Amino acid sequence: MTTLQLRFDAIQQAITDAAVDAIVIIDDRGIVRFFSPSAERLFGFNRAEVIGNNINMLMPAKDAKLHDGYIQSYKSSGRAKVIGIGRDVQGRRKDGSTFSMHLSVGEAQTEQGRLFVGICHDLSEYKALMEQLSSAERRYKDIVQYQREFICRLTSSFRLSFVNNAFCQQLGYQESEVIGVSLAEFIHEDDRSKVDRLLQTLRHERGEASLSVASAVLDNMGGTHFIEWTFRTVPASSEFHHEIQVIGNNITEQVKAKQHARFLAEYDSLTGFFNKDGLMQAFAKSHVPQRLYAVFFSDCYRFRLINEKYGQDVGDLMLMEAAQRIKSVMPADCLACRPGADDFVLVLPLREQADALLLAEQLLQSFVQPYYLAGEKLVPSAAIGISFYPDGATELPLLIRQAESAMFEAKASNQAIRVFHQDIHQQLTQRLEIEQGIRRALDQNLFEVVLQAKYNLEDMHLNGYEALIRWHDPELGTVPPDVFVAIAERVNLGEELDLWVLSNVLQQIATWRQAGYQVKPIAVNITAAHFSQPELFNRVAEMVSHLDLSMDCIELEITEGVAMGNSQVILDNLQAFKNKGVNIAIDDFGTGYSSLAYLKDLPVQLLKIDRAFIQDIEHPKNFGLVNAMIAMADAVGMQVLAEGIETERQRDILLKMGCDLGQGYLFARPVSYAEIEKGWI
Ligand code: C2E
Ligand code: MG
Ligand code: MG
Repeated sequence: MTTLQLRFDAIQQAITDAAVDAIVIIDDRGIVRFFSPSAERLFGFNRAEVIGNNINMLMPAKDAKLHDGYIQSYKSSGRAKVIGIGRDVQGRRKDGSTFSMHLSVGEAQTEQGRLFVGICHDLSEYKALMEQLSSAERRYKDIVQYQREFICRLTSSFRLSFVNNAFCQQLGYQESEVIGVSLAEFIHEDDRSKVDRLLQTLRHERGEASLSVASAVLDNMGGTHFIEWTFRTVPASSEFHHEIQVIGNNITEQVKAKQHARFLAEYDSLTGFFNKDGLMQAFAKSHVPQRLYAVFFSDCYRFRLINEKYGQDVGDLMLMEAAQRIKSVMPADCLACRPGADDFVLVLPLREQADALLLAEQLLQSFVQPYYLAGEKLVPSAAIGISFYPDGATELPLLIRQAESAMFEAKASNQAIRVFHQDIHQQLTQRLEIEQGIRRALDQNLFEVVLQAKYNLEDMHLNGYEALIRWHDPELGTVPPDVFVAIAERVNLGEELDLWVLSNVLQQIATWRQAGYQVKPIAVNITAAHFSQPELFNRVAEMVSHLDLSMDCIELEITEGVAMGNSQVILDNLQAFKNKGVNIAIDDFGTGYSSLAYLKDLPVQLLKIDRAFIQDIEHPKNFGLVNAMIAMADAVGMQVLAEGIETERQRDILLKMGCDLGQGYLFARPVSYAEIEKGWI
């Protein structure tokens, strides 16, 4: 063994002792001749166990088998695998475990023969570190890949050098399709220059900087996404400093929700026209102060009846078609608005005022063409009021009110088109005062109920009463009910008004009952919209039972339009009242367009022929009509009442015709509760 031991001088000895890397020297048969102290530490053998043995004891089995062959081949061919090159190989420790090391080998011709000096640098710690690093990188890559945000990198020329899954999936691309492509190609052209400017700014930043911008982005299918981008550069000292890191937050849903909210805030969802706020904004933005504008206010006044008769859906379809007709007739720069219900407001730039009349005519023509809906031909009628900017006013809300009052005026005078003038202005002011007055009167209980008696014409027996509302306002004076009831209906106060009268009447009946008076039924007028309310019956029933009364102490009067509306709610209400013994009368009969043939199937007991026919009953036309109404009502088993009988002659004629009941100044005027009581005493 000792002959195998190499002899070192003092310096060589010191070097091999001090070296951190293991030094192993073998001869050309592969026999270990030297094994340094660091080699003992690395391999776990002591030198006595190794020296004199084949070096392959320090190798894993697969290398060990081949090693002698390597030496042989090197000796014969001179082609080295390791010598002078160095490579990473596996070492084997005494305990059998293997590890990575970097092996470099030098060759020496010595007096002790041909020797190979191997320096083994332990790589196990380094390898473990590398493994840790790459698993950390894998973890971070995973996080980046599966973020909901787009995470990308751009080269200095703003081309994509990395994109995560979110970018590919949300925009519908394969990674390979986008790498190397300029980011600008994905940005919507309207936003491209904005994003580009921002990137240019960022490129000139020296240190770390980040900038944000939102833009529309097109996906592979041509769909639009809204992305909030944050672009970041890294400091110049970093090796990545030419790169731009990108985070993109897909805010499409929020943007769409906002857009929808804005649409709802400014537009009418049924017609796509502006709502009132939208119109105000659009006019404020677009109007030219020196220019002439006309404001049209149109109202299709059969729409409401159509809604009641055929249901909301048909009403909606009709409004949508009306909107289409407006669009087809009006100039493109017209601002169209549906402020609510069946009204339309149009604002039109004009050359001269006369053009407004022409346009209004055209509009009217197209409005009143028949509508073919719900399997029927429906023919509405319309009225248009017109006001002018800047002549009438410069404020749009005022112009709209002016046009609206002109429209009312048109309707009242049976005209189709009316231009606003100052007289109308007074009526408008009055209307507004009345509207506010009604609210005040409801709050402060300023209304009163009077009763008008109804009689059996044959024997002049009292049949019952009709309750009629009265309003003496401290500021407005006495306001006639047909004026304020119509206004109340228009501003949705009809229901409140009805309930006020109902409760007043019921309380009075209860008071009289308690005092021992037996009162004939009192008829209460119910506004059109109110009778289409599903809650009506229960409300009335509750009020009645609350006062311990029976339902048949009242009667209800509804107008023809309501009775004709064959909506289920109306039919249900009619039936429910009938079942509880509440008689229903059709008020003002003959003024609408109902057919008796239809009315005969309804649970309605009484027809009240409008005063207009009675007033001039001797006129042959009226005479014939009233006669026919009475005969037909009789045939279908309904009672008939003639309204507004003022003379004996009228009464006699009606009596002859077979009219059952009568109401009018001839018999009794509407009087207060106190007056009624006086009559009993
Ligand atoms: P209406 O329901 O047809 O009421 C009959 C109207 O004719 C009453 O007018 C009554 O005073 C009037 N009248 C009765 N006999 C004669 C007569 O011989 N000659 C003349 N010239 N008129 C007569 P009033 O009280 O002014 O009411 C007008 C309309 O206002 C009512 O017509 C009704 O539609 C409505 N109205 C009145 N009170 C109420 C109410 O409490 N609720 C509702 N919803 N509407 C009401
Ligand atoms: Mg009535
Ligand atoms: Mg009437």
